[in-house]
Amino acid sequence: MKILLNNTSLFESLRPFNDLGFVPTMGGIHKGHLSLINKSNKLCKKTIVSIFVNPKQFNNKKDLKSYPQNIMKDLKILKKSKKVDFVYLPKFKDIYKDKKKSKITLLKKDKILCAKFRKGHFEGVLDVMNKLTQIVKPKKIFMGEKDFQQLYLVKKKLEKKYKTKVIPCKTIRDSNNVALSSRNFLLKKHNLLIAAKIYEKLAGIKKYIKNKKNVTSFLNLQKKELKNNYKIKIDYLELRNIKNLKISSTNKNSRLFIAYYINNVRLIDNI
Ligand code: AMP
Repeated sequence: MKILLNNTSLFESLRPFNDLGFVPTMGGIHKGHLSLINKSNKLCKKTIVSIFVNPKQFNNKKDLKSYPQNIMKDLKILKKSKKVDFVYLPKFKDIYKDKKKSKITLLKKDKILCAKFRKGHFEGVLDVMNKLTQIVKPKKIFMGEKDFQQLYLVKKKLEKKYKTKVIPCKTIRDSNNVALSSRNFLLKKHNLLIAAKIYEKLAGIKKYIKNKKNVTSFLNLQKKELKNNYKIKIDYLELRNIKNLKISSTNKNSRLFIAYYINNVRLIDNI
């Protein structure tokens, strides 16, 4: 596993390879990331993982400051997996060397779910993914369904622009069905137990949707109940079609999306 600390060493090392699988991350490596790496390892000749906490996608300074970072631990896990050929650890200037302001904007119809509650977040994500794709030139990019809206937007924007394919990967969960996330490192055991109960409740809600005529009002009621029972703040609880992310009134081709806070940590999930 070769560690690439700047773009010069990246360009030199990657030159011979044109079947590259790319797994972009912000570190805090867990089994969710490893599942993406495994898939890349199976489908591509070489796998490159990047670790870069992109300040431009944080709409809240506190959130950026508290984002879990432990590069030595991450490198150890990646090396142990034996599935990673290159790890790219860029500095801010490697990514943003041309100071041109990014022109990426979201369409009004895309300003939903997390885009509505985290202003500028996806513009930051699309900007860094655009830059990373230009630098790494991967054949395939592996991204998790846990961040479904991110996967949806990156796929829509990047596949049009580059010869790269964005490959969706299933959400990996812990033994209590809580979606793995680097942010879970910021939670205490009892917080994670609440997250497990919320997953259970979501699964129940999804089942009940089948028999409901007015799904939106049913979900509003469930949202209130979740808020009161678990004393959590909820940004959204919505059923949306996976092809276009429009509000849906049936489970067919749809997922239930939630964003909520436990202990000031923002968690997202979709089932
Ligand atoms: P992050 O480091 O949180 O930016 O995540 C990097 C990539 O890993 C993104 O494509 C995420 O969607 C993906 N990912 C994060 N958590 C999970 C998970 N529990 N299961 C599958 N993929 C995940």
